[in-house]
Amino acid sequence: MSRKFEDKQLVIASHNQGKVSEFRELFKSFPVELTSVSELNHVEPDETGDTFQANAELKALAAATRSGIPALADDSGLCVEALNGQPGIYSARWAGPQKDFDFAMEKVRLGLVEEGTLNTRAYFIAGLALAWPDGHVEYFEGRVDGDLVWPPRGLKGFGYDPMFIPDGHEITFGEMEPDAKHAMSHRAHAFKQLIDACFKG
Ligand code: IMP
Repeated sequence: MSRKFEDKQLVIASHNQGKVSEFRELFKSFPVELTSVSELNHVEPDETGDTFQANAELKALAAATRSGIPALADDSGLCVEALNGQPGIYSARWAGPQKDFDFAMEKVRLGLVEEGTLNTRAYFIAGLALAWPDGHVEYFEGRVDGDLVWPPRGLKGFGYDPMFIPDGHEITFGEMEPDAKHAMSHRAHAFKQLIDACFKG
């Protein structure tokens, strides 16, 4: 049985304004006031974990214990089957300091060429951790499976979206309308689990 969220305030443990806005949108029908670690001037902890869960939990716990308010953090990435799950938790880091995702997608393609494989299977993972100031944490994980394509297609998404076709579709996340992607994404699955477990009766 998960712990219920019964507070009025929630801190979003991310300095990424895009993520903070996405969470504001997702929580808009819930009676909870959102603040972010940027507004509270927190420094982001290093992502020293070796799993999505460890990284999401350490970010959420750092924000909750520092602010005294429950905090929500996420950690996500693309896992490529033939590359033993890489880039995984290093998905953002593969794009380098310039956040160049054309470069990161090329790195994935080269990895597959080096493996000499025809296996294009991959999945996105999104981990969400909700932490309380007393150290209690609830964790939820969403996943969406699909295939990688080359060359990348579409300008609508971000990150690795242009090279990922979710199962049951023929277009990449980069070609898909944002609402359609958001309805089926790894993040949507994780968020639904969080809401069902911690924000409902
Ligand atoms: P995080 O901010 O540490 O969670 O980094 C996640 C990284 O994974 C992002 O920078 C993207 O490269 C990649 N990623 C996660 N979710 C998605 C997605 O929905 N589409 C494309 N790339 C994603």
